[in-house]
Amino acid sequence: MICIYSPQHILHNPPKEFISNQVAAYGESPERAELIYESLIDNGRVKLMRAEIFEPEHFSKVHSTAYLEYLETAYDEWVASGLWSEGIMPEFFAIGKMRDHLPVNSPLGKAGYYMTDSCTMIVKGTWEAVRFSGYTALTGAKYLLSGKNYVFSICRPPGHHAGYDFAGGYCFLNNAAIAARYLRDGGDPLIPGTSKVAILDLDFHHGNGTQDIVQRLEDILLVSIHGDPCHSYPYLTGYESENTLKNVNFPLQSGITDEAYLKIFSEAISLIKRFGAVYLVISLGVDTFEKDQLGDFRLSSDIYRLLSEFLISELGLPVLTVMEGGYNKEFLASNVLSFLTPFINSD
Ligand SMILES: [Zn+2]
Repeated sequence: MICIYSPQHILHNPPKEFISNQVAAYGESPERAELIYESLIDNGRVKLMRAEIFEPEHFSKVHSTAYLEYLETAYDEWVASGLWSEGIMPEFFAIGKMRDHLPVNSPLGKAGYYMTDSCTMIVKGTWEAVRFSGYTALTGAKYLLSGKNYVFSICRPPGHHAGYDFAGGYCFLNNAAIAARYLRDGGDPLIPGTSKVAILDLDFHHGNGTQDIVQRLEDILLVSIHGDPCHSYPYLTGYESENTLKNVNFPLQSGITDEAYLKIFSEAISLIKRFGAVYLVISLGVDTFEKDQLGDFRLSSDIYRLLSEFLISELGLPVLTVMEGGYNKEFLASNVLSFLTPFINSD
């Protein structure tokens, strides 16, 4: 099985975030991707490949050009204006009609315009890491188009909280949406194709960014299983009331166990089957694990293997898995490997 990795991710290493009413060490650390990468190095059935570089059009078909320009230039502009060199953390947020006021000129204004929370930080190396995270997803998608059945992209930073023109939840470019659009278009951003693509988001947190993007695209279905936003980040989206033909949310209560989760998972797979997807992109978050500090489900390590076994037998589709969350470093790599093992064994 091919797994894609890019070492540039280590350039994104913010010192801190503001979370749970306190300043804390940044939870989405480079160690996360390194642990996953290292766990795959000696696996004789895994071929680790470096990400290729792609044209910028693949990003601008999913994100606004103004937002992409912001990500690329924000840090230098911030520092040039005399603000703190350790990184960009917004101090206020544009809501409602405040988002209609463009252009925004000041670096602090732009941070509040393009970022949705204070647990996401832009540092000197963020853009380099972020664009390579997007390339990591695109390289995986390219392998799928060339006929591979199962590919894993060790994307970091993650992507599913990044919307059409906003960053948040540790995410900047929406890797899953970029890959899904690439697959839908057969790899050519200038000639929209018609291959139906489903995105299945299994991260504990609702993929608000993916939902925002999918509403703007044809032939892409998003199905998301996540913690109920009544009590879980991102709090304002992920409810059943938002469901459309393009977007189906399964918000689940705290403490859900393997058996109940598997029932919902089976429903989600039925929806993807009915949609007629040709490719499946999975946003894999293992912060659904019972010991993850950012989730409150009670899922065991065994469930990840059961989920992918079920996917393989029920759908029989080519699958690109992109990495999202998962923050318990003791179990992160083993839970990811548990999910990947049925794919590795079937490849
Ligand atoms: Zn998450």
